[in-house]
Amino acid sequence: MPEPLSPAGLRALDRAHVWHPYGPMPGRQEPLVVESASGVRLRLAEPAHGQHELVDGMSSWWSAVHGYNHPVLNEAARDQLDRMSHVMFGGLTHEPAVRLAARLVEITPEPLQHVFLADSGSVSVEVAVKMCLQYWRSAGRPAKQRLLTWRGGYHGDTWQPMSVCDPEGGMHELWSGALPRQVFADEPPAGFDAEPDAAYATHLRELIAHHADELAAVIVEPVVQGAGGMRFHSPAYLRVLREACDAHGVLLVFDEIATGFGRTGRLFAAEHAGVSPDVMCVGKALTGGYLTMAATLCTTAVAEGISRGEVPVLAHGPTFMGNPLASAVACASIELLLGQDWEQEVKRIGAGLRDGLAPAGDLPGVREVRVLGAIGVVQLDHEVDMESATRAAVREGVWLRPFRDLVYTMPPYVTGDDDVARICRAVCAAAREG
Ligand SMILES: *Cc1c(COP(=O)(O)O)cnc(C)c1O
Repeated sequence: MPEPLSPAGLRALDRAHVWHPYGPMPGRQEPLVVESASGVRLRLAEPAHGQHELVDGMSSWWSAVHGYNHPVLNEAARDQLDRMSHVMFGGLTHEPAVRLAARLVEITPEPLQHVFLADSGSVSVEVAVKMCLQYWRSAGRPAKQRLLTWRGGYHGDTWQPMSVCDPEGGMHELWSGALPRQVFADEPPAGFDAEPDAAYATHLRELIAHHADELAAVIVEPVVQGAGGMRFHSPAYLRVLREACDAHGVLLVFDEIATGFGRTGRLFAAEHAGVSPDVMCVGKALTGGYLTMAATLCTTAVAEGISRGEVPVLAHGPTFMGNPLASAVACASIELLLGQDWEQEVKRIGAGLRDGLAPAGDLPGVREVRVLGAIGVVQLDHEVDMESATRAAVREGVWLRPFRDLVYTMPPYVTGDDDVARICRAVCAAAREG
C-alpha cells in the first residue's frame, strides 16, 4: 500500500491536477476531503467549521438511497469481486446482468421488456435517443430525427442529452449554436397538485402535431425536473404527452434517472400518471450509489422496429456494458429497497422535510418551499452564494450542494428523524446565509 497522503498534500495535488464537476481548472473552491462514509454520515479527513462528520443531505446526487457502507451491498460487491469484477459483454453474458435486466423489466411499467445496460445516465439517454431515431429510420421515416421536450429539463452532459436540457440559463447554454436543434415547449406549469392547465395541454398537443413529421420522440423527466430547476408538475401532463404521441406517431421517452427507485413516493414517477413510456432511462439510485451504471428500457415494438431495419442492430456497446460488479450491487440494492416498506420511509422523510423546512418560508429572500416524496426544495429570489450557503450547512453538520437559486435536499431513505431535522436546520441556515 502506498503511504497515505496528508489532507493538505491531497488537496494540493487535487488542485493541481483534478477536474471537479462543473468547475474550472484549478478549482475555485477548496473541496472537503472525505475519508470514509457510513450510514448517512460522511467522515472528513480534517474538521471543517468544527465538524468532523457531515450528514449527507444529497445522497451523493440522488444515488445513495440506502446510505453508505451498507452491509448488504458490501456483501454483494465482495461476493461478486471474488468471482469476477468484469468481463466483456459482446458474445458473453453472466448472471448478475441477466438477473438485473429481468428484475428491471419486472418492476418497471409492463410494456418495457428489453434492457440496454449503460455505464452512466448520460449514456443511457444517448442510447434512448439512438433507439428512437433508429426506430423511425428502420420504419422508412428517416426525417423523424428531432426531439421535443419542455423547458427547464436536465438530461445529462453528453451531446444529445445537452440538446434537450433547458436551453436558457442552464449549464449548456454555451453550446446552443453547436447542438442539434430540438423543439422546446414551455415549462410545465408548477405544482404537483395544481389543477392541470388546459391551455398548456393544448400547447403541448399543438406543438407535437405541428412537428410530428420531424419528431422521433418526446423526452421528459416525469413529475420532477431535477438539475434543471427542481420543479414539480402535475402528472396530468404526462397523460397529455402519451395521448398526443400516440395520435401523431411519436415515441415517448421518460428520463427517470433522478426520479426512479422511490424518490417521488412511487417506485417510478410515471406511476403517478399511470402512463407507460416507449423508452425509459434509469440510473443514479440503480446501484444504491455504489458504482456507475444506468439502463435504457424499451418496448418490444421499439426493439423489433430497430431489429427489422436496413441496419438491423443497435450499434452501441460500451466497453463496460453490463459490468458484473455494478449489476450485482444493483440487484442487491433493488432487493434491499423492495424488501422494506420503502413507501413508508419516503413518506416519513417527506413529512420531516415538510415540518422542518416550513420555517424557511418566512425567511427574507425565500420565494418558495416545496416538498414531494423525499425531496425538499427551498427556492430563493436570488442566486445562492454557494460558498456561504455551503459553510452555513457544514456548521450545522450537514452536506448540501446548492445551485442557482436553489437549496435542496434528497436524503438517503435510511435517514433517521433527528438527522432529517438536522438537514432541515441546515437547509434553512443555507437559505438564510446564502
Ligand atoms: C443525473 C441525470 C442524468 C445524467 O446522469 P449521469 O449519470 O450524471 O450521466 C440524466 N438525466 C437526469 C434526469 C439526471 O438527473
